[in-house]
Formats: sequence, C-alpha cells, structure tokens
Amino acid sequence: MLERRGLRPEAKPSTVLGDWLDDAACKGSESEIWFLEANHKAEDEWKIFAAKEICATCPVREPCLEHAIEYREWGIWGGTTDQERKRIRMHRRRYPGQGELAV
Ligand code: SF4
Repeated sequence: MLERRGLRPEAKPSTVLGDWLDDAACKGSESEIWFLEANHKAEDEWKIFAAKEICATCPVREPCLEHAIEYREWGIWGGTTDQERKRIRMHRRRYPGQGELAV
C-alpha cells in the first residue's frame, strides 16, 4: 500500500516518511481501498470504511495523520479522508492552540 501513497514528486519516502511506517497496520493491505477519487461511486464507499477500520487498530495513527496533514497527501491516512484533513487544517489555522477538531 505504501508504494501507492500519493507523495508529492519532490518528496522522497525515505526522508519524508518516518520510522513509524514500520508499524503501520496497513502494510500489505489491498491498495484499492486507500485511494478513492473525490467523485467515486456510491458503491465504493465501503472502501473508506474498510480503510478506516484498519486505521482504528493502527499504533501509528497519530504520526501518520500528521504526515498527511503536513504533506497534503491524498487518500486515507491516519483514519481520515482528504476532506476531513482539510477541515482539520482549516480548524488549526482559524483556532490555533484551541484543541483538535474531532473527525
Ligand atoms: S493510520 Fe491507517 S494509513 Fe496510517 S499507517 Fe496506520 S493503517 Fe496505515
């Protein structure tokens, strides 16, 4: 799955991603569930839930989420979708130091 992560072209996985990846619960999982286009079909919605279920068991969810927020990754990272991370970024910008947005 990690090979398919939408890293920015200039980003090198070895320098951008941390050691936390070694403990990723998504290692070896089906890659198709992690990257849905924004205009995906309704019948593919289950993939988001399947990915989030794996993330819910992941010991490195927090660094994964922070990485995805910082590097504006696409797909499911840290148990969140692109849209959810966008809301987190907006919340942090608008209300710095005032707690995290629950997603
Ligand atoms: S939080 Fe989810 S996407 Fe991130 S490493 Fe864990 S299982 Fe993979």
